[in-house]
Amino acid sequence: MKFLCINCDRQMVFEERQFPGDGTLAAAFRCPECGRCVAILTNPMETQLVASLGVKIGGRTVPEQPMETVRGMVVTGKDNAFDDSGGRADGRTGGPTWTAEAQERLARVHGFVRGMVKRIYGDYARDHGIAEITPAVMDAARSELGLEEM
Ligand SMILES: [Zn+2]
Repeated sequence: MKFLCINCDRQMVFEERQFPGDGTLAAAFRCPECGRCVAILTNPMETQLVASLGVKIGGRTVPEQPMETVRGMVVTGKDNAFDDSGGRADGRTGGPTWTAEAQERLARVHGFVRGMVKRIYGDYARDHGIAEITPAVMDAARSELGLEEM
């Protein structure tokens, strides 16, 4: 599995991989030229497909799991693409708040993808004029955005 930066026509380099232990896989690649990041997120079924293809992520074959389709997620951005702070680069304030239940669910998202997931939900809430993110909002965003495993 290789990722190419379309802007720079450079092969992206492997940066980080996580096997949280529940069968999911998350891996990040970065363009050495412009810093653009790509992350691939798979659920346990998807991880198995990657494994069945013999794909090596960061030099190690993915451990075996049950099977489904691979879904990739492309994130454009700079070094702070996976920023976990929840802050916005443009300095805007007054973004949606998170209920305790929503924050608890977010806390179950592993490692470096958490900031990205939080941003996706935050952007969804903003786009829909939602002031408070609840598990129900997360469910709606997931189905609307096709992010079933997040
Ligand atoms: Zn690039």
